[in-house]
Amino acid sequence: MKFGTKAIHAGVSPDPSTGAIMTPIFQTSTYVQKSPGDHYGYEYSRTHNPTRTALQQSIAALENGKHGICFSSGLGAIDSVVKLFNPGDEIISTNDLYGGTYRLFTKVFERYGIKFHFVSMADPEQLSTYVNEKTKMVWVETPTNPMMNIIDLEAMAAFTKKHGLLLAVDNTFASPYLQNPLDLGADIVMHSVTKYLGGHSDVVMGALVVNDDELASRLVFLQNACGATPGPQDCFLVLRGIKTLHLRMERHCQNGKTIAAYLKNHPKVEKVYWPGFEDHPNHLVAKRQMRDFGGMISFTLKGNSLDDAKKVMESFELFALAESLGGVESLCGHPATMTHASIPKAEREKVGLVDSLIRLSVGVEDAEDLKNDLANALSKI
Ligand SMILES: *Cc1c(COP(=O)(O)O)cnc(C)c1O
Repeated sequence: MKFGTKAIHAGVSPDPSTGAIMTPIFQTSTYVQKSPGDHYGYEYSRTHNPTRTALQQSIAALENGKHGICFSSGLGAIDSVVKLFNPGDEIISTNDLYGGTYRLFTKVFERYGIKFHFVSMADPEQLSTYVNEKTKMVWVETPTNPMMNIIDLEAMAAFTKKHGLLLAVDNTFASPYLQNPLDLGADIVMHSVTKYLGGHSDVVMGALVVNDDELASRLVFLQNACGATPGPQDCFLVLRGIKTLHLRMERHCQNGKTIAAYLKNHPKVEKVYWPGFEDHPNHLVAKRQMRDFGGMISFTLKGNSLDDAKKVMESFELFALAESLGGVESLCGHPATMTHASIPKAEREKVGLVDSLIRLSVGVEDAEDLKNDLANALSKI
């Protein structure tokens, strides 16, 4: 099946007891057994729930993977990945990382004796110096947030295979529509389902997808043993969101392209970060590993004034100033004061994350209206 067909049909089948075409919300914590141990495959909803089963199968299919495992948030999913390891083990991670992941790694798991190396992944071979017998996994995000750098997943997978490491990819920014890391050699794909998969800014959820049966059973064990599982109503909402994932993504990409080009030609804009531009440093890698370039765009203002950036964001009427991304509505964020405020200014500026940098999650509204909103807001400075 092609992607759009999978988005609508994979993992779901009409309810056998009623014929309901949509998977019901199985709002139950427990299941009656005919005789001790003789049940219908469901015993307790932390362990299994039919609405969650359908969603896990759907997400696995979208990532061309065998096993989908859902969690109550993206960070809940990452938490279970790190719990595969033991004190003394080491993980190499991208340095341009989602702030919550960085916090989980450094403020929680370092206390339990797991060591993290945060490094630039422009060239996988540079990672060799961090690999020793304790190294277990490489953690990658691509495109990165908010600088929109692209990491070559095939090259990274060749590197991790050579060194016997697991490769885990946070695929949240791309969504399974744009990029399927398992096909490129990754071992674990992670999603903040909260973003594009859910797509309507009404659910917080996470997911992992893997092919290896043994790795899957260890992660399913952790899902049940640690208990960060999503409720059935949330699973239903995401199943509903997924049915239009391909349609939404097509429009996110189209609008992203229009808005990126508009900003690039705007006299008050200094720099636009979007992997679809031919002069983006990783454009060719993006073209090879992604179906299209998405609707996530960052840009900076000429003069690099924090006050100007604030004025622009306060002047938007459509772009809502809010954390998160990937919903149908357009959002804007200010990494220097919001998501990346905990990173020292000098460190931020080294990677280009300056005070005037604004991040857009371009939604699926009419592009003309979004352009007008940007024109109006930029006219205020
Ligand atoms: C939002 C996000 C997360 C965390 O997911 P939650 O669902 O908020 O827990 C992880 N990685 C990336 C790239 C994100 O955007």
